[in-house]
This record gives sequence, structure tokens and C-alpha cells, in this order.
Amino acid sequence: MTEKYEAVIIGGGVNGLGTAYHLGKKGFTDVLVLDKSYLGYGASGRNGGGIRQQWTSEDNIKLARESRKMFERLDDELEEDLEFYQGGYLVLSFHEEEAAEFKENVKLQNKLGVDSKFLSPEEAKEIVPELDISDVVAATFNQSDGTIYPFKVIHGYADRVREIGIDIKEHTEVTDIVTQGDEIKKVKTSEGNIKTDTVINAAGGWSSKVAEMAGAEIPNVPVRHEIMVTEPYKRFLDPMVISFEHGIYFSQSEHGNIVGGIGNPDEEPGLNQKGSLWFLKNFSDTLLDFIPRFSGVHMIRQWAGFYDTTPDAQPILGSVPEIERFYQVNGFSGHGFMVSPMVDKVTAELILGEQPSMDIERLRVERFEDMDLEEEGGVVG
Ligand SMILES: Cc1cc2nc3c(=O)[nH]c(=O)nc-3n(C[C@H](O)[C@H](O)[C@H](O)COP(=O)(O)OP(=O)(O)OC[C@H]3O[C@@H](n4cnc5c(N)ncnc54)[C@H](O)[C@@H]3O)c2cc1C
Repeated sequence: MTEKYEAVIIGGGVNGLGTAYHLGKKGFTDVLVLDKSYLGYGASGRNGGGIRQQWTSEDNIKLARESRKMFERLDDELEEDLEFYQGGYLVLSFHEEEAAEFKENVKLQNKLGVDSKFLSPEEAKEIVPELDISDVVAATFNQSDGTIYPFKVIHGYADRVREIGIDIKEHTEVTDIVTQGDEIKKVKTSEGNIKTDTVINAAGGWSSKVAEMAGAEIPNVPVRHEIMVTEPYKRFLDPMVISFEHGIYFSQSEHGNIVGGIGNPDEEPGLNQKGSLWFLKNFSDTLLDFIPRFSGVHMIRQWAGFYDTTPDAQPILGSVPEIERFYQVNGFSGHGFMVSPMVDKVTAELILGEQPSMDIERLRVERFEDMDLEEEGGVVG
């Protein structure tokens, strides 16, 4: 049986569900969200829950700043305790050259209303007394950054979206997007066809495959990133700690578990979600260099997901030139959760033909053809 919807969202991660939520809030409810697996099967159910505004590009700083404000209100909106804990983010530098860049980053962040601070190693140690600062040259810190519990956000959105009257179907894979000229006619799925003229590509690591189905091209490449969690321990670590140079990040959850990951610079692109021994060894060794007190903690689980990467590590938003009403909300690399509230609001506004709350012209896919790219330098892992 062929069904009909005004819009179909491909992907039941934070951005697919967040976009549905913002559409629904504006009374646009003839929408179907599809996921080929369960909600949160993609990176949204596999990430570190980090919410950071300390970025190097204006667009990312603004997106993250507005999103942080929205996360502060989201508990009330979704009537759910999302465990948003604003213990800050401590970003460590181990080289003078990088420290000089950090100073410039802080200036830009302050100018854009993010209250980050440049710190000496000793000041960093005051925030995390267990930190080994022998090789640390400088740090930055922003108190209103923090962590959130990703599954609670996803299911909070899903519950609200269903209440508003939007349909969600799990275990339904989109296999083709049928177009005629530059118009979308229908979406083919593993469970039947759906007539629609509006499709939102929120397919995370699979987004370039989904774009191909409609005959559009986006440059996104999925790259595996691994992460782990330990047994719970008495809380002693307030902020998320990260180092761009080591590709490491770690924080302690409200329940006491240490959650952290490290990027493998030699990781080949591809749809690989297996755990590796490389990760276990390199994460543990690096973690102990940072905080020797972690010696003897017990990891209970490791897993992997994808960074959906773009050449400038910035997201792709808005429609594509080839096809009408084919909206992209993808390419988030390792920061698609923390920017999602603002991104999803703007995506809903674009779909409805409204003036977007934030200018996203520099984040359109056309930038790869006709603009000088501004590469985001604050990517961890
Ligand atoms: C290890 C790791 C740690 C991270 N840490 C952080 C962090 O601390 N903070 C942060 O902000 N970000 C982090 N990220 C990145 C963040 O998780 C992602 O950017 C974000 O979750 C992307 O959400 P999304 O909704 O766009 O895509 P996803 O969550 O990937 O969702 C895409 C969905 O699309 C579905 N799908 C794909 N193809 C089809 C199809 N053909 N038909 C139907 N459904 C389909 C998939 O099943 C999937 O559920 C991390 C990522 C990883 C992997």
C-alpha cells in the first residue's frame, strides 16, 4: 500500500527526531520519520554526550552557543531529566604554537558571547587536581559546556514527536528516492512506497548513500570512532577533558562512570562499527598519562560509531541545487549532538519557507564548489 506524507525524514537520530520536533511545534505534523534500525542506532546512540561551545569557526561557535541555551530549556520542554550537567570543558594544549591558537580562539569565542577562559597549567590543575600537568603548556575552560545523556534526548524527542501526531517507523529502510526532473515523487522503503515531495536526509554516516539515491552529491565520508565506559566510581571529575593533539576526550557521568574515546589517525573511511584492540590499548595508555589515578579502573564496555565527516569538518545544511525540497542535515563529524537543537530548528524553518533564525549560507553544500572553505580546527579524535 502506498502512503502519503508532506515530508519524510530519513534517520531516527537526534537530528531527524529534532527536526521532526521543530516541525511539529509549528503545527506541521504530516511527517514520517523512518529509521532502518532502532532509534539511536546511528552515532546519536553511540556518542560521548559532550556539549561544547569552544570552537574555532564562527558558524560552529554560534550554533553551539544557541544550542547550549536550548539544551538548558529542553528538560522542561520534553518533561524529562536529560542529565544535562554543566561541569565545563577543559581543553588542554601541549605545544606553544597550539597554545597561541587557543588564545585567538578564546578571543573569538568571547566576542561571540561564549565565556571561555585561557588558563595556565596550574589553573587547569585547580579544576582537575588529579591531572598530570608536566607536559601541559596551556588550557582553555568554559563552565557552561558539559555533558548530556544522549538516549534520554532521543527518546524524549521521540515521545514528544509522537504526542504531537508525527509518525515514526523503525526497522524501515529507505532503498530509493524517486525523482522526476528536479522534483521528488516518492520514497521506496523495505516496507512499501511513500508518496512525498519533501525529504530530509538525516542519515548520519549513511547520508552520502541516501543523497545518491536522489541523484544528489554530497562529499560526506563515514569514519569509525571508538568509545568506552568504565564501572561507576565516586565522582571526582567535573568537566569533560579533551586534547586535540592526542585525540582523546573523557568525562564522568552523573552515575560515576568514566566515558571516553580516542581517535585513530590511521582509521580508514568506511562503515565499520567493530571495536578494536588498538582502541583499548591507546585509550588506556593515554588516559593514564593524563590522570595516573585511573590506573586499575575497570572498563565494562567498548563500542564504535561513525563520524559523518566533510572536507572542512562543518555540517551540511539546507537544500541541494540538483533536487527541489531535498534537505540535508548531516556531515557533523564529531559534534552533531551538541549543535543539534539550533540546526534542527533552522532546518524546520527552511522546510517551511521561513526566515532561518541563523544564517546558514556558509554551511550549504554549494560551498564545496564555489567558496573558500573555513576548516574547523577544534575537532577531537
Ligand atoms: C564515538 C562517538 C563519539 C561522539 N561524541 C560526540 C559528543 O561528545 N558530542 C557531540 O555533539 N557529538 C558527538 N559525536 C557525533 C554525534 O554523535 C553525531 O554527529 C550525531 O549523533 C549525528 O546525529 P544524526 O541524527 O545526524 O545521525 P545518526 O545518529 O547517525 O542517525 C542516522 C540514522 O539514520 C538511519 N539511516 C541510515 N540510512 C538509512 C536508510 N537508508 N533508511 C532509514 N534509516 C536510515 C540510521 O539507522 C541512523 O539511526 C560522536 C560520535 C561518535 C561516533
